[in-house]
Amino acid sequence: MERIYMDNAATTQMSEAAKKTMIDTMENCYGNASSLHSFGNHAAIILQQSREIMAKYLNAEPREIYFTSCGSESDNQAILTGIKLGAKKNKKHIISTKIEHHAILHMLERLKKEGYEVTFLDVGKNGIVKPNDVASAIKENTALVTIMYANNEIGTIQPIKEIGQICKDKKILFHTDAVQAGGHIDIDVAENNIDMLSLSAHKFNGPKGVGILYCKKNIIPERLIEGGGHERGRRAGTENIPGIASMAAAFEDSCLNIQKHGEYTSKLRDKLIAGLSKIPNCIVNGDLTNRLPGNVNMCFEGVEGESLLLMLDMRGIAASSGSACTSGSLDPSHVLLALGLPHEIAHGSLRLSLSHYNTEEEIDYIIKTVPEIVGYLRNMSPVWEKIQKGEMKSRL
Ligand SMILES: *Cc1c(COP(=O)(O)O)cnc(C)c1O
Repeated sequence: MERIYMDNAATTQMSEAAKKTMIDTMENCYGNASSLHSFGNHAAIILQQSREIMAKYLNAEPREIYFTSCGSESDNQAILTGIKLGAKKNKKHIISTKIEHHAILHMLERLKKEGYEVTFLDVGKNGIVKPNDVASAIKENTALVTIMYANNEIGTIQPIKEIGQICKDKKILFHTDAVQAGGHIDIDVAENNIDMLSLSAHKFNGPKGVGILYCKKNIIPERLIEGGGHERGRRAGTENIPGIASMAAAFEDSCLNIQKHGEYTSKLRDKLIAGLSKIPNCIVNGDLTNRLPGNVNMCFEGVEGESLLLMLDMRGIAASSGSACTSGSLDPSHVLLALGLPHEIAHGSLRLSLSHYNTEEEIDYIIKTVPEIVGYLRNMSPVWEKIQKGEMKSRL
């Protein structure tokens, strides 16, 4: 049986461009970019070219790009940069949302324990934060606003331009975790007044273990790793040249095809949502318009997300319930709870994240298979039986 991969929000397969560049670089460019010989020079040139490509497609300058090991590192570094700069002016307040990735949330929770004040903004039922709420949360001592560009579970795209403008007017640093957005929707850091931005290569068909932190030129990022003078002295460690070159190739390829892939993928997404919405007692999570082209997230009442995933896997469909980091735990997703869903409903969630590699036949197969599995699981569910008999009220 052919297997269907619909977990692109967790990670993506590498594009041909990314694979080819990675192999070429491993074979032909193994020097250390700091070495003072031709091998080193070659590596330094590849590094600079990669920096230029990343900058070009974000509308940034090459010197504003810092290579990191992943999106999580970039997120951590951005927050620590924000509080370090804030500390100089005695500012210890950070504004974020309840639907951030754990790379943001866990760092903010740690800082809270260390005495920082953190405001986690609510989102609407549609999974989108209101710019007005950001404005009202700003205080005299606010050091940083960190709000994700697009959500990894429900795919909602946040009003980044409005938030960027508010932060600019109030002279507050603005970081956005754009790991889900990069390579999938257009990003312009200048137009959106973004001070810091995180990307991770493996979310846009690049390799795992490499990312960037964009940091506006007037901001000096806080070092997480001490050592050599790599990355303008802000991130020590011999550069991962094959990974970085491959990331740049993947980013360029993705950005050049954003329109084409976006139209194709969102058509498949809409067909999938329409097909699965015919299942009784279900709900689609997250705004239907301001949404990543590849994201489908739904809850089915009376069904456990984990059971659904296992049965889908047996039928060849790789999906997810909530985020990859939380599966394995029994807590329902913090994102779905932030939408105001009851625990019971949030437990029955299914995320199908598509890419341009998916096909219409795959969508048809899923539209046929999911209702069968949901029906099978509901037949065994005491909760569902009670709802059917009218002994329990539906929570939807
Ligand atoms: C995947 C992801 C991250 C973490 O990126 P890694 O490269 O896996 O560390 C951070 N934020 C969001 C929104 C993500 O989807």
